[in-house]
Formats: sequence, C-alpha cells, structure tokens
Amino acid sequence: MKTIGLITSGGDSPGMNAAVRSVVRSSSYNGLIVKAASRGYQGVLDNDIRELDSDSVSGIIQRGGTILKTARCKEFHTAEGREKAATVLKSHEIDALIVIGGDGSFRGADLLSNEHQMPVIGIPATIDNDLAGTDETIGYDTALNTAMVAIDKIRDTADAHDRLFLVEVMGRDVGFIALETGISIGAELILLPEAQTKTEEVISSLKSILKEQIRSSIVVVAEGNGTGGAWNLADQIKDDFSKYDMKVCILGHIQRGGTPTARDRVLASQLGHAAVKAAIEGHTSVMVGVVNNQIKLSPLKMASSKKKDIDYDTLELSKILQ
Ligand code: ADP
Repeated sequence: MKTIGLITSGGDSPGMNAAVRSVVRSSSYNGLIVKAASRGYQGVLDNDIRELDSDSVSGIIQRGGTILKTARCKEFHTAEGREKAATVLKSHEIDALIVIGGDGSFRGADLLSNEHQMPVIGIPATIDNDLAGTDETIGYDTALNTAMVAIDKIRDTADAHDRLFLVEVMGRDVGFIALETGISIGAELILLPEAQTKTEEVISSLKSILKEQIRSSIVVVAEGNGTGGAWNLADQIKDDFSKYDMKVCILGHIQRGGTPTARDRVLASQLGHAAVKAAIEGHTSVMVGVVNNQIKLSPLKMASSKKKDIDYDTLELSKILQ
C-alpha cells in the first residue's frame, strides 16, 4: 500500500474539508501518498487528479463545501464508465480509493470494487444523517444548527405579530433534520416524511394548538412530508386559518453551507483517520462510522441500501413537548 485515491462525491456537506484534511495528514503520517480527483467520479474519468500533501490541506478545516469540488456523474452509472475509472486509477498506481459522500456515491464505489478489484472505503458525509452504520454523518450537526439559528430568528418576528409560520427544512426521504430542529426550536408541530400526514390531521392539530394559545406558532415541515412541502400545505389550509397571518419560509440551501460545527470537524477528523487505517489493514467495500462513540466498519452495501430509521423515542418526545 503506497498510494490512496480520494474524492468527495454527490451532495456536499459541511465538514467534507475536515475529512479531506484528516485523510491527507493520516496518510502522510503513515508514509502514504494521496492523489485526489476533482469533482468526484467525473474528475477520475477526466483524469483530473493531483497529489495532496500536508501543506495543501492547511487552513481548510473551518471551511464549508469541499476544496476538491463535488459532482454527479452519469457516466459512472455505466459499466464502461466504471471500467474507464478503474483504468485511470490504476494508471496512477492508486491502491485504494476513499470516497467521501452519501449512499449514491457508495453504491458506485461498491460496484467499482466488485467489478475491478479496487479496494474502496466510504466516509459518510451528508446533511441528511440517513446512512445506516453510523450514529451521525458529517454535516448533519452543522445543518441542524444552521436551521435552528434561522428558525430562532423567524420566531422573533413571528412572536412580534402572533403569526403562524410554516418553515420547510431539507429531508426528502428522512426526517432527522426536521425532527431535531423542531425539538430544538420548540416547534408547535413537526411534519416528517416518515409520517405521511394528511392535511385534515394538520388542520385539526393546528386548530387545537391555536385554541390554547394566542402567541406565535411554528410548524416545521420536512420537504418530503405527505402534505407536499410548506407552500402546498399553506395552500391547502389557508381557508381554515384565514384569520391568521400565515407565512411560509423555505430554508433551502443555507442548510448545506457554512462553517462546520466543532462536532462535525471532530467527527470528520476521526472518520478520515479511520478510513486510512481501514485501507492500510486491507479492508474493502466498507464504510467507517461511529456507533456508540466507537469507530465501526460496516459493509458499503448496508449503508447504500438501507436508510437509517429516525429515533422513535425522540419522535414521541417531540409530541409530548409540543
Ligand atoms: P450521494 O452520494 O450524495 O447520495 P448521488 O446519489 O447523486 O449522491 O451519487 C453521486 C454519484 O455516485 C452519482 O452521480 C454517480 O456518479 C454515482 N452513483 C450513484 N448511484 C450509482 C449507481 N447505482 N451506480 C453507479 N454509480 C452510482
């Protein structure tokens, strides 16, 4: 083992740079060279590959986004694309590829490994926190804090006018961000993709909440909830709440950017180091994760095929506290 390949792939998340830095510095500590491709699998196919040394990752731990850039690459979905990628990686004498990304990137990595005997290690980075095999993914904590701070500001203006706000957060398939942001801002109602809420249920819950209080109310809506997102929901309930000054706010891409929290920087540093160690030990097709504060390796197949469930005790708690 002499050379490690490295990419960031798929959706970006804050903390990816901290993981890049950790992979590079841990490799250097172990006498290994790191060759990184720009723009994920696309950069591999374009042979856009450069060597990174310890100095080249100075001053990036606090930066959101990824210095390597990330991309979605259609060609890598084809067997020919993956064959070309394997040829490029082998021409650089890359002995193992570390992929920082989400479930899609891991599906591609797993295929590359099986078809071309290229050892691959995954580092889970997505704001959605939906990957089985790790308690938390890189970027989730930052996204949560970004959403919380933004909604705290919305609460100030909502309070000033006794307004009803529908705030949409990211989460098409899973509701981690909605659930934990909702708890942290004291939401009056939280709507998740896991509970495909019907509009009539929202109307009756909101009516009973509004009967009991005359102050502001905030409904946190995951974009994948059965009501079709905050704008759709507003449209469906506006007649029932016409006497309230109802407002909609879509938080959108601010949830993806920004300087990573301390927790994400530390997690990314731990996982970057664990990935290099796993590569040196000869593991392949595994994802590094943290489970109960311990580093754990799990099959990439599991991480890429099984969405992690939200914690149903936390969901119950959110209902008690509403
Ligand atoms: P994420 O890794 O954030 O889930 P995507 O699902 O967009 O993001 O996947 C990132 C890239 O991984 C895709 O653009 C593609 O190049 C590769 N990929 C995703 N799914 C597959 C697959 N089933 N087969 C091969 N490559 C895949």
